[in-house]
Amino acid sequence: MLALYFNGAKLTLQPNYREPVVRPGEALIKVRQAGICKTDLEIIQGYMGFAGVLGHEFVGEVMRCHARPELVGRRVVGEINCGCSHCKRCRAGMQEHCPNRTVLGILQRDGAFAEHLALPARNLHVVPDSVPDCHAVFTEPLAACYEILAQRPDLPGKRVIVLGDGKLGLLASQVLANAGCDVTCVGKHRRKLDVLAKRGIPVRLDSTASPHSAPVVVECTGSPSGFLLARRLVEPRGLIVMKSTVAASNAMQLAPLVIDEVTVMGSRCGPFDPALKALESGSIDVESLISGHYPLSEVLTALDRAASPRVIKILLTM
Ligand SMILES: [Zn+2]
Ligand SMILES: [Zn+2]
Repeated sequence: MLALYFNGAKLTLQPNYREPVVRPGEALIKVRQAGICKTDLEIIQGYMGFAGVLGHEFVGEVMRCHARPELVGRRVVGEINCGCSHCKRCRAGMQEHCPNRTVLGILQRDGAFAEHLALPARNLHVVPDSVPDCHAVFTEPLAACYEILAQRPDLPGKRVIVLGDGKLGLLASQVLANAGCDVTCVGKHRRKLDVLAKRGIPVRLDSTASPHSAPVVVECTGSPSGFLLARRLVEPRGLIVMKSTVAASNAMQLAPLVIDEVTVMGSRCGPFDPALKALESGSIDVESLISGHYPLSEVLTALDRAASPRVIKILLTM
């Protein structure tokens, strides 16, 4: 099959890459579309030390699945963390924190920038018929935004700054605003912020944001300086939610967190059900986030384009 392989240093598009190994309990999936994520660009810079097929945001069709035969032929999206199902954390329902886990396209498991992939059947969710492929492919990053509310159900009603106007910031702003948070998105790019302004969500350029102005700051910049800005914007005794993972290591002064009694909360993958419901109801605008479609055969060009600051989301079609 055709696949984009990363050997830890270099990317190559391989026309005869090996078919995925389908283990007991897993499904073989024909990928229909995949999204290029900031995380993919970071992996190429060395984050996670991953070698294999990149890509973790996808929608596909189940080709083979002994564990859940009713899924064969269905359109699905998939949770990316695959736990061992035996350890203490897996048994407690925390497979995303299993110490033995693999993660699609990120850790020890080939990903979605290929014609086929394998995932445990229990990770799969059927996509409602009314949701087109190019929207379904946003389920995984959208679920990551719902994780913020799963971790902190007390946020609705609070003033929240979402930092960053990339895909994650634009999705998180909509999720939190729909949930009843008083959201302002702070970013660098007028044109990207306009996606939110059009929907009545207040936006600001980061040069104009005033210090200590919100009790909650959600950091979605994907840039090493994002945390420093978040720390400046959060009120004393406030909360910083960290959504970006960045390749560059960041020497930071932690004393101001102590002085201001700030809580820092990491936040990663999240629940798929509310994300699929939101896509089905149309309550989240993902259409405006799509900057272009490329065939898998042009994935190298697509990755270059995805790295441009003017671009929000690039999708691959298999
Ligand atoms: Zn992603
Ligand atoms: Zn486990």
